[in-house]
Amino acid sequence: MPVGGELEALEFYRSRLDAEGNVRPWDVDDLAEFAGHGDPFAGRVAPGDRPTLSFQLEVPEEPVVWIGAEPAEVYAWSMALEQSLRLWGLGPGDTLALFDYGSSPLVLLSSSAYLPYLGQGAAQRLGVTTVCSDGVANAADRMAETVEMLDPAAIVLRAELVVPLAGALRRRGVRLRCRWVALCCSEGAPRRVEAHACEQALQVPTRRVLRADAAFVLAPECPTCDRFHLDSDLYRLETVQGAVTVTTLFARRCPSHRYLLGAAGADSPGCPAAPGSWRVRWD
Ligand SMILES: [Zn+2]
Repeated sequence: MPVGGELEALEFYRSRLDAEGNVRPWDVDDLAEFAGHGDPFAGRVAPGDRPTLSFQLEVPEEPVVWIGAEPAEVYAWSMALEQSLRLWGLGPGDTLALFDYGSSPLVLLSSSAYLPYLGQGAAQRLGVTTVCSDGVANAADRMAETVEMLDPAAIVLRAELVVPLAGALRRRGVRLRCRWVALCCSEGAPRRVEAHACEQALQVPTRRVLRADAAFVLAPECPTCDRFHLDSDLYRLETVQGAVTVTTLFARRCPSHRYLLGAAGADSPGCPAAPGSWRVRWD
């Protein structure tokens, strides 16, 4: 984990260190402001340094912002997805349909078919087969056909695709028989009311995913406690000036200290399903 001295070498953090050397919380708007000056890494990577892997964030669309990582860091990020799939009960022989953009970490981290640097992706390590259909609304019929042909055990679904998928399934006369749908969006988590609407539209239990790609954060909504779990080996949660922030312990090349988790509220650990995990609410 980077120490204060290393952070001081990074332009983005230098302007956010207080008198005690603590990082003031930040979010994607701060990155966008910084990236507007011509550095797509927004001052989070040392000058002249180029990470092995670079990813463009979905938000903001302009200016373009990249995050960078080494393969071992991306593997650690994929552990968060593996824990999510395990928490939701996926296992050997299951098929997971990914109806999300190909650039989404839920896709990229699932299989080495999408990111060979992983060796084995999160789903592969669980013995789960993945199929991805890049999630745009006009792909609704392709998604419905995938459901009809493969009968997946579970589906990762972008929130804006609920209505198009429900319509396409209805038109084809296909009944969704999967165990759950994991609803996601590009930053933060879908609201609770959106998950409820998805359950109504698709008649399938719906879990939500919390994403903060700028900080390599991916957290599953727990079916036991309805909170989002963040593994304490991967992340550290803090409440700073009333706001929930997350520090990503494995992020070194592109450090992620005290990222603001938007609308999240912090709960104490103690869920029976994962007693050591941090927990956040997102209504
Ligand atoms: Zn829980």
